[in-house]
Amino acid sequence: MSAALPEKGRAWAELKKEMQARGQNDVKWREGKTAVYVFNAGPEIAQVQKEAYTMYMSENGLGPLAFPSLKQMEEEVISMALSILHGPEGATGAMTSGGTDSITMALKTARDFARANGKAKSKANIVLPRSAHPAFEKAAHMMDIEVRRVAIDPKTLLADPDAMKAALDADTVMMVGSAPNFPHGVIDPISALGEVAAEKDVWLHVDACVGGYFAPFARMNGVDVPPFDFEVPAVRSMSADLHKYGYAAKGASSVLFRSGELYKHMPFDTDDWSGARMITPTLAGTRPGGAIAAAWAVMNFLGIEGYKEKQGLVCATREKIQKGVEALGCEVLGDPKLGLLAFRHPELDSYALWGKMLERGWFTSITTEPPSLHLMLSPFHAEVADQYLTDLEAGMADLRAGKTGEKREARYS
Ligand SMILES: *Cc1c(COP(=O)(O)O)cnc(C)c1O
Repeated sequence: MSAALPEKGRAWAELKKEMQARGQNDVKWREGKTAVYVFNAGPEIAQVQKEAYTMYMSENGLGPLAFPSLKQMEEEVISMALSILHGPEGATGAMTSGGTDSITMALKTARDFARANGKAKSKANIVLPRSAHPAFEKAAHMMDIEVRRVAIDPKTLLADPDAMKAALDADTVMMVGSAPNFPHGVIDPISALGEVAAEKDVWLHVDACVGGYFAPFARMNGVDVPPFDFEVPAVRSMSADLHKYGYAAKGASSVLFRSGELYKHMPFDTDDWSGARMITPTLAGTRPGGAIAAAWAVMNFLGIEGYKEKQGLVCATREKIQKGVEALGCEVLGDPKLGLLAFRHPELDSYALWGKMLERGWFTSITTEPPSLHLMLSPFHAEVADQYLTDLEAGMADLRAGKTGEKREARYS
């Protein structure tokens, strides 16, 4: 990497051209051949995101007094979220910059809640299924909290409530279930985890980063989604990413709490410096107004009807791909019901097959336990599902013919 700040500035027209040229080497997600990192809900949504974002691009959510517009939009985003996730009277939350931020803040809140109640004073731990997102590890690392990963059921790939129960102790500040988990897209048994949490009086967090704005609509469409949100009485907090299936612009997630009594352990309030008193609800100081505005606009643009339509399309595409890969002799891992799925072929090397798909322009993710190909689907994938299956069949034929090629490294990015 070498680029010194140029002595003289350059014309925007020239810079714009250069940036467009640089983008040529990126994955072709607009053509639908990417099933990780980006969500493509079509040009209409993209326009709403873009215009709403730029309208409030310079405004700062750090200053609710200066920008009542952003405060109001954030409050409405949170109450719209709670309205689809069975938030009880008094439930509350905040917008954050993403899932990692939401998870970090939920863990910090749970730890401070435990300490305020005389627990986990000197050391703390968090109990997580093997499939829970690394964001919990990152947050725990920053706060010096011990991570206890618990094996998942090898058949269903779901969190094991009894095994999790055995890992809890007096210093446990949080236990976690995912709805769904990222690797296999399956929804942990939140009701059963809730029973453990209630019995042991432990904070239960549901990581619905990828499912929070999907599962409620899948359920409205008749998909058999088990209780996973505040409907389960022991759930104290949730993370749900707006910049995933909320179809908001990036930099937007929500962290939600059952009550103000729990939430009050989240904001940081200090006046111990020479500047003005500062109260910040989340990790960020400056908060991008554009991300708040775009989330508000997209949610109101789509409404329940719009989300039901989009998520219905995604579920139908997942079912189509699921049936298609099974017809090619592959097995789908677990019982995915939403927009993610992982699959593998019993004889062919998953990572070599990943490479064969990359050769055909497909950029997707993988899982490691067991090795498999991973897809996170967007509405736009409805238009390319047939192509994916055709390419998969051709890729499998290549492998059978001994044409191996590049293998995917066993890491996320
Ligand atoms: C994406 C995701 C996260 C992390 O969210 P970021 O926005 O990438 O920080 C956490 N948990 C799950 C289940 C996710 O899918």
